[in-house]
Amino acid sequence: MSNPPAKATPCPVCRKPSVAAHAPFCSAACRDRDLIAWLDERYVVPGRPASDEGDHGDAE
Ligand SMILES: [Zn+2]
Repeated sequence: MSNPPAKATPCPVCRKPSVAAHAPFCSAACRDRDLIAWLDERYVVPGRPASDEGDHGDAE
């Protein structure tokens, strides 16, 4: 009868129709992917800290 409003948000990762169980993603895999990408951007590693403390060795 009445068509359901096609307002389902597509998965932001792969653009497939999202699933309620994993909204707004289509699957747990995409949810993980997005989360990882998000964390990756947030915790951007600014290279390795130049630690000048190598092995000084026991000078003797
Ligand atoms: Zn997806």
